Order: sequence, then C-alpha cells, then structure tokens
Amino acid sequence: MRFIIGGLMHETHTFSSEITSLDRFDISRGAELLQYAGSNHSLGGAIDGCRERTIDILPAFFAIATPAGTIPATTFTTLLEELVGSIGALLPADGIVLALHGAMVAEGAPDAEAAILERVRKVVGLTMPIAVTLDFHANISQRMVDLATIITTYDTYPHVDIAERAREAVGLLEQVVRQEIAPVMALVKPPLIPVPQVQQTSIEPFCSLMARAHDMEAKNEALTVTVAGGFAYSDVPDAGVSFLVTTDGNREIAEALATELAAMLWERQEMLIAANPSVAEAVTDAIAAEEWPVVLVDVGDNVGGGTPGDATEILAELLRQRAVDATIVIADPESVQQAILAGVRNEVRLRVGGKVDQLHGDPVELTGTVVAITDGRWIHAGPENAGVPADMGPTAVVRSEGVNIVLTSVKSMPGDLNQLRSVGIDPASQRILVVKASVRWRGGYEPIMARGILVDTSGLGSVDLSRFAYRSIRRPIFPIDERAEWP
Ligand SMILES: [Zn+2]
Repeated sequence: MRFIIGGLMHETHTFSSEITSLDRFDISRGAELLQYAGSNHSLGGAIDGCRERTIDILPAFFAIATPAGTIPATTFTTLLEELVGSIGALLPADGIVLALHGAMVAEGAPDAEAAILERVRKVVGLTMPIAVTLDFHANISQRMVDLATIITTYDTYPHVDIAERAREAVGLLEQVVRQEIAPVMALVKPPLIPVPQVQQTSIEPFCSLMARAHDMEAKNEALTVTVAGGFAYSDVPDAGVSFLVTTDGNREIAEALATELAAMLWERQEMLIAANPSVAEAVTDAIAAEEWPVVLVDVGDNVGGGTPGDATEILAELLRQRAVDATIVIADPESVQQAILAGVRNEVRLRVGGKVDQLHGDPVELTGTVVAITDGRWIHAGPENAGVPADMGPTAVVRSEGVNIVLTSVKSMPGDLNQLRSVGIDPASQRILVVKASVRWRGGYEPIMARGILVDTSGLGSVDLSRFAYRSIRRPIFPIDERAEWP
C-alpha cells in the first residue's frame, strides 16, 4: 500500500495587519518531510503511522507559517500549485494524508482547506481516499467534509495528541483502502464562537464533551469523533465550534451523535463567557505571591492565535511596579540589532515592542544590560510539538531593573520550557513568567509553576469579541450576540 503525505497549514487571524506572505512559510519538499518523523506533529504521526503499518510513504510537499493575517492570493496559489503538482507527480497511490489546519484564510479563499481539497480532487479524482488531519481550532465547513474521506482533529488543547490523531487517520485510511469500512460524516455547527481561553479540554465545558466523544469511539458507536473549538478570529461564515461524527455507513447515527454533543455545549453556553483581571491587578498579585513562578498570561497577544508577539502592557506594568526576577519574550527585530551592536555585558537604550500595529500597547523606553545573544534556534521539549525545531531568529536578552526581556527577531510560539532555556534562563528560577498565549503554554509550564493568571490585555487576542468588526460570521452567534438560536 502507498500513501502520499503532504499538507499546508496556517491559522489565520483575519483582523491582523501582518500579511502571511510566502517568506513566512517553512517549506519542506519530498524527502525533507521525513524529518518530522517521531515528532508530535501531524506529519510526524502520519509518517510513524505509515511505518508501523508497513505502508510505503510518498512524501510530497508541506508548508506551515506561524499564525498571523490573511494569506495573499499569489502566495496561496504558489503553495497550493506546488502541493498539487508534487502529489500529481507521485501518483499512483492508494490514499493521501493531508495535514491541514482548518482555519486557514487566503484572499479569495475564505475556506482555504476546502479550496485545497477541491484542487487536489481535480488531480486525483473523486474516488481517491483522502484523510485530512485538522487542528482543534479548525472552523470546519460542509465543503471540507464533502471533499474528504476521513477527517481527524486534535482532541486536546493544549494540543498534546497531534501525532496520535494523524496515526488514527492513517489507520482509518488503511481500512478504507482495504474496503473494511465505508465512512460517512455528519457535521453539526450550533451558533457558538468561543475564545481560546475557554476551550481548554481538561476543564469544563469541553472536558465532558471530550469524555463523551471518546466514549462514542470506545463503544464503537462511531469510527472517530471530532469536537473542534474553532478559531474565533477568522471572520468567515464557518467560524465557531464544530461537531463532526464519522460512522461506518450510518448517516442517521452520525447525525444523532453529533447533535447530542452540540446540545451538551449549547446547554452550557454560559461557560463560554471569559473575563480576566486587569494588567495592574494581575502584576500586583504576581509580585505579592509567596510561591513561584507565577505565569502572567498575555491573552490579548496570543502568538499562537495570530497576534504580533510585541505587546507591551505587561512589560510596562512590571517595570512600573518594580518586579524582580520576571521574564518576558517580545518580538522586536530592531531592538535585537541594537542589543547586538551594543554587545554582551554592555548597556543599551531601547524602545521595546508595540511596533507592529497600534493595538498592543506603546513602545516601552528602557535602559538595560545585554545579558546574552543567541541564534534563536531550539528544539521543542513539548508536550505540544515535542521534537519540532523552532527558530526565533537572532535573539538577545536584555536585563532592565529586575526584568529579563528576551528580544526575538521573529515571533515565536510561547510556553515551551526550552524557549527560555535556549537563552540561558531557567523558567523555574523566575518569580514571574509572562507568556503571550491563551492555553498552549500550560503543557510546558504547568508542571513547574505555582500559579497562572490570565490577564485582560487589549489586542487581537482579546477575549471580548465585541471589539472586532465582524462582517462574515453567522449572526446571531453566542457570546457576541446574546440571543442566538439553535433548534
Ligand atoms: Zn490550535
């Protein structure tokens, strides 16, 4: 048996002014894809899954970029044509595994995953079995469902089961090829658009939903069950939660089970409302804490959700309240260059952060000592993305009063212990750690922290969705509209 593997992944924040241009994509071609083997990544799981089942792997093309704004039409076409071209060149195959995100938006393609699948179908035909892996934050559309044979989605947030879900997809795809199963999918989408902060799968309301979903799989009521929290910051008609149930040939049962899960969340929609303490309160609290480290979560600048990673509200407050042994990471290539020019152990005067747009605080003027300069490369400790390399570009640590400011050239996904270790800071030794995140940080930091405080910062990751000028989502939708209706 021969499976082609490939993909194209991006989580698109359509309100972001940071254009996700071609140079922002990390591209792997042919055998280069195999470097993901063994990692907690969809490609890693797809490769490992094929190897375990002695399925021949035909690696095609894969591109991924850090979450940010809409992808230009030319970039999308370039990437899609290379993906499709490489798939075409590898035929014949028995099946295809595509690692997609589910909340990708390109100019002219608001449902980018459906556009990808449509284009792939043109090359491989309507009968080729295609398994798609999606992120928990996928905004799943009926078009995606119609074009795929199998869809699996991470069951966890933070995403600790990424590779496992891809292996599941490979297993199901193999059964399809062997004609042991005939999957049918039912998609149910009640009008609910929760922010990331309330989507953590180990706590309610998502915890019970996942338990019931796993119960359906364990009892063989369904082949696979997806509960997707969705990505609220993509202004597209399919934004919001999705319940997708796949059964072996029984549409009625699939629909009933998906509706059952949707009703569970609908009944507890009040739990989808998020509220956090102010920046000043949170910093005061963290400084007064008797056990460390306290993690201050800059929810408004949630890098994993497509924000710039250069917000300054918490930095300014840490300096104002004279915090000590506090560490914050800020993407600011200009300040990195100034720190490099100054050199290690020397003093430097900087205007830090707040430069990408007007939504994430003003630049903070400060004087500090350059403590370290690195190439910004490290490997994820995980659990999320364990084994996957990260590249922050040239990076400098500047210490100002009691605050370590890790300045990176490109924004980097937070919450992995190796990020700070790579610049010589042991996260466990700090009193205060600021992470620009919502939930992702918990996988790495929860084992070492005393406490986490989610902070009501402004910005593109704000938990108050009424701050965004939506034009394309379904209305009414909860919690933006109080009176959303669902049968
Ligand atoms: Zn996600």
